[in-house]
Amino acid sequence: MNADILVIGGGLHGLSAALQSARRGASVILVERHFLGRHASGATAAGVRTLGRDPAELPLSLEAAGMWHEMAELVSDDCGFTACGQLQVAEDEAALSKIKARVRALQSKGFMHETMIGLEEMQELVPDLSPHCLGGAWVSGDGSADPHRTICAFRDAALRAGVEIHEECLVTGLQRRNDRWQAQTSRGVFEASIIVNAGGAWADQVAALAGEPVQQSIRTSMMVVTERTQTRVKPVVSSLGKKLSFKQTAQGTMVIGGGSQGRLAADRQSASVDFVALAASVGAAVRLFPKTKGLRIVRTWAGMEAMTRDHLPVIGFSRGAPGLIHAFGFSGHGFQLVPSVGRVVADLACKGQTRHDLGAFDVERLSKERAAA
Ligand SMILES: Cc1cc2nc3c(=O)[nH]c(=O)nc-3n(C[C@H](O)[C@H](O)[C@H](O)COP(=O)(O)OP(=O)(O)OC[C@H]3O[C@@H](n4cnc5c(N)ncnc54)[C@H](O)[C@@H]3O)c2cc1C
Repeated sequence: MNADILVIGGGLHGLSAALQSARRGASVILVERHFLGRHASGATAAGVRTLGRDPAELPLSLEAAGMWHEMAELVSDDCGFTACGQLQVAEDEAALSKIKARVRALQSKGFMHETMIGLEEMQELVPDLSPHCLGGAWVSGDGSADPHRTICAFRDAALRAGVEIHEECLVTGLQRRNDRWQAQTSRGVFEASIIVNAGGAWADQVAALAGEPVQQSIRTSMMVVTERTQTRVKPVVSSLGKKLSFKQTAQGTMVIGGGSQGRLAADRQSASVDFVALAASVGAAVRLFPKTKGLRIVRTWAGMEAMTRDHLPVIGFSRGAPGLIHAFGFSGHGFQLVPSVGRVVADLACKGQTRHDLGAFDVERLSKERAAA
């Protein structure tokens, strides 16, 4: 029940931080109130996307992109990652101008990963795309992975590295005594010098237990899987300004997501599908790929995760609680960041510093006390 580092939250960010800390020689315990991957990490669309990221996230996202291409080095499995490319299309002139402006701005700052592509190239990449699309931005090295294989790979690698994992273990209290944290849990008291808060949609509650109230809300993004189809769509496709991301699995089913929100039952820690909102996503998908009209939906779900006001995560040391490191608030796009954020958190936990500038991710911007002042 004693370790150098206690990680709270058994989603992919908790697992990645735990694994990479243990690889640096720290003793690590990870506690998860349900089972590993129960929430956002198990519900995710698993898109591996640098495309359309906030510039503040790009250094972490580009580092993560490199790590996804070498994923077997980190966890001895490629996690089902395929670099099938990601394409963001413009369905009207206004969207096209916005995409062009973004790509120009990125390139002027030296970020060359996004390129503009025109109609012809787009039709070659995605022949079944509706002809009303005008052009788009393309990242060839982006793609998608298999979320459940990723959870298993990170879990197994963490166990091999010596991480002790306790499932069905809810943290209910945190106290700092003599430079050590004591965590009260449903399975007894744990002690550690460093706490990592990877509590996802409940990270604000974990922060409050440590005496650092923060403001966050909860996203409840929905997903749809269709029956198998002969239509072939290789890259992941999204549409600027629409809540839509569209991809095809190796089995031929279509996976439609993109941020349409379900119904939250936070007290029951669950989210359910809102079929009216879901119909809008599906309609947008059919508009982009008319051949998918009439396909049967075989599965839908909604997942919960923390969302911040500026949609940027919180990564870094607490301002008020010594030895507390936050990694939460990924606001619907944290899957891709799992390898690099885990590396940053491990650096902070084991060396007290990272080479990344975490200014944009500082917890202080979400401080409830600051908001009240
Ligand atoms: C439907 C959907 C689609 C998505 N698609 C994409 C995508 O295509 N690309 C992308 O990059 N990102 C995507 N995301 C976002 C991505 O999945 C998340 O950002 C990421 O999985 C967050 O991981 P996490 O470990 O922070 O959170 P989680 O996986 O939610 O893990 C947090 C864990 O902490 C546990 N916990 C909380 N409080 C306590 C406590 N007190 N004691 C013990 N345990 C506790 C919870 O039970 C939970 O399991 C999507 C998310 C959803 C929901």
